Amino acid sequence: EAQGLRRAPEANHAAFLRAQGAIPGGVNSPVRAYGSVGGDPRFLASARGAYVTDVAGREYVDLVGSWGPALLGHAHPEVVAAVQDAAARGLSFGAPTVAEVELAEEVRRRVPAAERVRLVSTGTEATMTAIRLARGVTGRPLVVKFAGCYHGHMDALLAEAGSGVATLALPGSAGVTEATAAETLVLPYNDLAAVEAAFAQRGSEIAAVITEASPANMGVVPPAEGFNEGLRRITARHGALLVMDEVLTGFRVGPSGWWGLENDAIRAAGGAGWAPDLFTFGKVIGGGMPVAALGGPASVMDHLAPLGPVYQAGTLSGNPVAVASGLATLHLAGDAVYARVDEVARVLSAAVGEALTAAGVEHRVQRAGSLFSVFFGPLAAASGVRDYAQAQAQETFRYTALFHSMLESGVNLPPSVFEAWFVSAAHDDAAVDRILTALPAAARAAAAA
Ligand code: PMP
Repeated sequence: EAQGLRRAPEANHAAFLRAQGAIPGGVNSPVRAYGSVGGDPRFLASARGAYVTDVAGREYVDLVGSWGPALLGHAHPEVVAAVQDAAARGLSFGAPTVAEVELAEEVRRRVPAAERVRLVSTGTEATMTAIRLARGVTGRPLVVKFAGCYHGHMDALLAEAGSGVATLALPGSAGVTEATAAETLVLPYNDLAAVEAAFAQRGSEIAAVITEASPANMGVVPPAEGFNEGLRRITARHGALLVMDEVLTGFRVGPSGWWGLENDAIRAAGGAGWAPDLFTFGKVIGGGMPVAALGGPASVMDHLAPLGPVYQAGTLSGNPVAVASGLATLHLAGDAVYARVDEVARVLSAAVGEALTAAGVEHRVQRAGSLFSVFFGPLAAASGVRDYAQAQAQETFRYTALFHSMLESGVNLPPSVFEAWFVSAAHDDAAVDRILTALPAAARAAAAA
């Protein structure tokens, strides 16, 4: 056992060195590189249920979940079987299939305002197309986004972005022209007065407001009550489109995403509910394969080619193997799955808070449905985190200590404090217990940092 532990880092280290000779930074997406927590990223060999196994044969309870898609846990047997069946019938046709229609109909069944759905391969493509469509429909140039929200790596949406851009503490990206940056207005999150002011100044030029339905790329920062509905009110008044980015929250925090949770609550209280002009989906909709989508009313979506003048296309869009994975995942994602991920998130988020409190670490755990994350330091502890400036003001070094202690104990956390912890329905009591057992020592490490 002890020898196994000594060998493990060597195998990972060798893989990482080799990777750096062939791939920039050794990774194909920056947050995978442990840039902020340090050390060698674990190179994974396999994943099943709540567990991942690295190239040295060490097993970890996984709370990354492929950064969101693995709602059912990894390699669910029925999803794998659906993928194998589809693969045997052909990997890609470049022609329409009935399965794509079934997936679009399943999205519309869950989110009725998505009357028409266009499938793409990544969340980035979904938000990029949503912005182009908004500009095409309105004839206006500007886009409003919120600091700390991440919408993929489209040029116009990288300014003050969350996720890896936040982890690397970048204001945006090199390679984005000033002209493009000037077409993006970045506002503080959860601040409707700032949105009102921007529209008062430049309302006739604003094509769209894009927002994460409930932000989870600066850590988990839920919208204040009425914030999303307020965005709906303001955009409608000024003839701009509202784009709800549910790439991360869609089909994860509930059967109809964050929009569904908010609107169920509004209707339960006797309200009428609201809908955005466009939704973007990704992650869970592909169940671990490359599927993403945008959806909205036909009156907006029919501006897309071939019906309308807004062009969008993709050789692998609606890929039959990927669609099989997404369909099987959504068919399996029923009430029991959502009840389980809610329960696991409730238990784990409470346990993290208790362990940190017991160790004397000032912190605040924030939760939005089954998504949660921890913010460290007295400021977060005192008043919570409502926007990106507050998220950035935390004691990030405490997370580094917590992360490495958990990793040593066999728990794979997201390698950045700015990411949500992703639970799955495959996190059974045994998996949860392993996390609970690891927490006290990790909290003490965070206290000592
Ligand atoms: N929007 C949100 C809210 C996301 O969380 C992400 C990815 N983390 C994206 C868009 C981009 O998706 P992708 O990485 O598939 O391009």
